[in-house]
Amino acid sequence: MSETTTTVPFFSGAASVRRDWPRLEARIREVAASGRFTSGPVTAELETAIAERTGARHAVAVANGTDALVILLRAAGIGPGDEVIVPAYTFFATASCVLHVGAQPVLVDVLPGSYAMDPERAEAAITPRTKAIMPVHLFSQMADMEVLRDLADRHGLMLLEDSAEGIDMRAGGVHAGLWGSGGVLSFFPTKTLGSLGDAGMLLTDDDRIAARARRLRQHGQDTEGEYVHEEIGWNSRCDELQSAFLLHRLERLTEETERRAELAARYDRLLAPLAGKVTTPWIAPAKTPGNQVYYVYLVECDRRDELAAHLEAHGVGTEIYYPRPLTEQPLLAPLPGSRHPVPVAAAASRRALALPLYPDLTDAQADHVAGLIHAFYGAAS
Ligand SMILES: *Cc1c(COP(=O)(O)O)cnc(C)c1O
Repeated sequence: MSETTTTVPFFSGAASVRRDWPRLEARIREVAASGRFTSGPVTAELETAIAERTGARHAVAVANGTDALVILLRAAGIGPGDEVIVPAYTFFATASCVLHVGAQPVLVDVLPGSYAMDPERAEAAITPRTKAIMPVHLFSQMADMEVLRDLADRHGLMLLEDSAEGIDMRAGGVHAGLWGSGGVLSFFPTKTLGSLGDAGMLLTDDDRIAARARRLRQHGQDTEGEYVHEEIGWNSRCDELQSAFLLHRLERLTEETERRAELAARYDRLLAPLAGKVTTPWIAPAKTPGNQVYYVYLVECDRRDELAAHLEAHGVGTEIYYPRPLTEQPLLAPLPGSRHPVPVAAAASRRALALPLYPDLTDAQADHVAGLIHAFYGAAS
């Protein structure tokens, strides 16, 4: 068979770029010819487009999703003396952003299946210093935001969201990141809406958070071009080229999300006979109208590391999200916020494996991956 059916990278966007190159090239030429390369009209256009798509009152473009989190927390007034409850099963940035603004992350366990913050564990971790809870929406679905918002309301806590993976995920008609005071988007290339490098966005309906975030992304400068700095901020810009690329990708997002869902259903079907050895993603039944988006297709499996090595040896890339709970990160482990037991996160970190899933993946490639997984367990039993 052709090379494409035997080598399957964990992620590639090359075929999409190739297919769309004439239109992309035109956009890139326009930016180059404009002479305005950063913080210009194309980035403003992207902010408007994302605000319209998500329903956010404000979308503030920054350099990456991590900066968006740090700026969101600072703009929301989180700082020294505050505790922020976050799940222990997530990317490091969910907790490091809390430390960046001088506050303490408190790590709690997640629910099996959704991998989202366990509301009961979060409630048990509340102290007089707790200022906010920040659930994360991972892989393919949102956390149960009705329950988490109720929890925040009952305890007078701010609700923030690490919705970096959440583009186009909605629950009850409300987009990820907009259930509380604000959220973020990451446009890292592998994300559902990926740039050609790095970019990110802060989403909020709160006018004051948005205004402060706009200052903080440019060194706390109060009025654009005035060189008056009211506080220490960051230099966190989303440049015009990334914005142009993202505006183009946005036009493809609906069809690409459908393709992701198609591939996920294909894996579900192909891997079903391996139930007991490979657990395919569990999707929470929707309580209210919403939508899930397969950013990542994550299975849990027996002998995970051996399976990953087997796939690697056959040219198939995989990724382990996440190899350890945050409570076992060297930086975080000694902190008081790492004292809560996280058995669900620990078990998932030993069994979770993300399979290749992206719009450019062909049916034949998905079949090939599933076939290799069957061969692995077949040979073993
Ligand atoms: C990708 C991601 C981030 C960080 O975004 P970057 O753009 O890579 O900085 C933060 N949190 C979660 C859950 C993510 O998946």
